[in-house]
Amino acid sequence: MIQDEKDTLQQFPTATRYELQLILNKPFAEVEGQEKITYWNNEDVALEEIYLRMFPNNAGDLMVVSELQIAGKESPINVDFENTALRVDLPTALQPGESTILDLAYTVQIPTDFGGNYGLFSYIDGLLALDQVYAIIPVYDDEGWNVEVSPPNGDMIYTDPAFFTVTIQSPVELVIASSGVMVDEEEKDGIKTQTVVAGPVRDFYLAASVKYATVSEQIGETLVTSYYPEGYKEGGEYVLEVGVNALKTYNDRLGTYPYTELDLVGTPMDAGGMEYSGIVAMGIQYYDPDVVFSGLPAFTYLESIVAHEVAHEWFFNIIMDDQIDEPWIDEGMAQFLTSLYYEDTYGPSAASSYRESWYSRWNRVDSKLMPIGLPVRDYTEAEYGAIIYGRAPLFIQSLHDDIGEEVFSEFLHTLFVEYEWSILTTGEFRSLAEEVCNCDLQEDFETWVYSQ
Ligand SMILES: [Zn+2]
Repeated sequence: MIQDEKDTLQQFPTATRYELQLILNKPFAEVEGQEKITYWNNEDVALEEIYLRMFPNNAGDLMVVSELQIAGKESPINVDFENTALRVDLPTALQPGESTILDLAYTVQIPTDFGGNYGLFSYIDGLLALDQVYAIIPVYDDEGWNVEVSPPNGDMIYTDPAFFTVTIQSPVELVIASSGVMVDEEEKDGIKTQTVVAGPVRDFYLAASVKYATVSEQIGETLVTSYYPEGYKEGGEYVLEVGVNALKTYNDRLGTYPYTELDLVGTPMDAGGMEYSGIVAMGIQYYDPDVVFSGLPAFTYLESIVAHEVAHEWFFNIIMDDQIDEPWIDEGMAQFLTSLYYEDTYGPSAASSYRESWYSRWNRVDSKLMPIGLPVRDYTEAEYGAIIYGRAPLFIQSLHDDIGEEVFSEFLHTLFVEYEWSILTTGEFRSLAEEVCNCDLQEDFETWVYSQ
């Protein structure tokens, strides 16, 4: 953490602690994992069970838990939600303020194709992408445990801040990019063991390859590093340049990025990019400056993807929203902040031409007046892309235009101060905006957000 955030570490004495031991061996067909979770009941009700989500199983039955101990006692393994969740039945209910320890042993098969999760969990062309290679505890709220079979569109992580200590054993030549910072590294007989710590974070991601090279730049207290496979130097350097400028814009417009490291990594995926805590991944297909997609150079896409994914460090990681029930908040804000990146980097006309992309997205469903505030499952795939990535930033832009630049800018700073490491709901978004503008936004929200 940067100096200003050092106190943050003391703010979460009862946040979930994950201790992972991962073994990555050639030919990287599977990961062997051990996971120890220290979980405190921070809710105001006793808990009979704890759910752990197994996201690798969204792409097939890849993750198998072979052993579960609750407070040191061997326990039965119950899977649920089409094998995407582990249900831990506690021998006695966990009272508010009490903690327990779960120990798991597991293996995860690594697919060599894009599979069912856009390739975010894969080993393709010598690049290893491990999107949540462990079991993670979702948010418990007034709906109970936020666990379900994930809808095919949209993001899946909805978690409270947690702390990770991850030990990764791998061949020495493997270059690893991950959430958090490396605190220890040992080498013996061609095997290296790295210890990485991260937190407070929403998740833990890692990508690795023997082909990765890096280029870095220090911005304030944060070291920004771009990881790119050999042969993609131009793309890797471009990603660093965009990432650095995006970081500067959001530091300025919202509040300073809290970690000492931000990693940007290129991986094969059937998507533009994906956000994780302290690290973002971009589709490697956009790293080649000579490639053209739909008449536009790959770098045009790459620039907006990097700016968008880096913006998620503020909306998703620092400020979480329910990505399944209210996806407009983090996706709409990430899109809107991308326009501020263009404005601060090149000026207002670049920002307004980027904003055209929101209209073209929305146009894909004929600019249908569909509310932006619906859960992922209520949109078709086409509607999700058009409404959440097109109409949602247009709403935020219209809010900005209504309340004016100065008040809107105060709203952004206040959001950061009030909701850092918390969960932001649509209701809270509205009341904070109303508080800052000292105005009634009922009509705005009815026009854009709420279903009638
Ligand atoms: Zn996004």
